[in-house]
Amino acid sequence: MESFADRLSVVQGQIIDAAARAGRDPGEITLIAVSKTHSPEAVRDAMDAGHFLFGESRVQEARAKIPEVSSRAHWHFIGHLQKNKIRHALPLFELLHSVDSAELAADIDRVAGEAGVHPRVLLEVNVAGEGSKFGFSPAKLRADLEQLLALDRLQIEGLMAIPPVAAEAEHSRKYFVALRELRDRLQEEFRLPLPQLSMGMSGDFPIAIEEGATLVRVGTALFGTRRGKTWKPASGEFGGDD
Ligand SMILES: *Cc1c(COP(=O)(O)O)cnc(C)c1O
Repeated sequence: MESFADRLSVVQGQIIDAAARAGRDPGEITLIAVSKTHSPEAVRDAMDAGHFLFGESRVQEARAKIPEVSSRAHWHFIGHLQKNKIRHALPLFELLHSVDSAELAADIDRVAGEAGVHPRVLLEVNVAGEGSKFGFSPAKLRADLEQLLALDRLQIEGLMAIPPVAAEAEHSRKYFVALRELRDRLQEEFRLPLPQLSMGMSGDFPIAIEEGATLVRVGTALFGTRRGKTWKPASGEFGGDD
């Protein structure tokens, strides 16, 4: 069976090649290994292969998993964050990719104030206008940005998007371009730096890199399929819905 190390070197090679095609420095691109549904052992294997940055999309799962893994691991949150999970999420994650509404941003700001922290965040944009998806529409983001910038606990570093599932990776390109162009317009209009673009998953991360991604969130290409997988701690302590 292929090891994590084998798959990591393939993905790293694809990152280098995509950066070269775009004339970018591959050092500008950060790979997040999305470990949701995978066990702490799988994360430890990844660390043995030299990878230390992971992404999780459920707070309950992460709260159980992170203590089982060495503190040398770093964690980003990439899922929909529920209001009642903010307090637990803040100490676990170095970057929240998925601030998807002005209400959530205000709640995070308030909880961060109480906790005395300044969380790093990205704003999630619903680039394709899908009714089923979380995230700001581009127009709403522009309308809300002034108010978001006034939340002085939040360090807003950029934008994130999850384009529609596509049969072909090329179909995602227009959404990656749209996110980059939105970022460029907001930077200019509001005169602020938004350096981070979190876009691209296993099926399309090379194209996202060609279009400016600085953070790619790759699960399946590193850990293998999640089909039929869930990971829960042995004790029921963290049981519950999220
Ligand atoms: C699960 C997930 C990923 C990783 O998806 P793969 O296709 O397995 O690489 C990336 N981003 C988000 C937000 C996810 O939920």
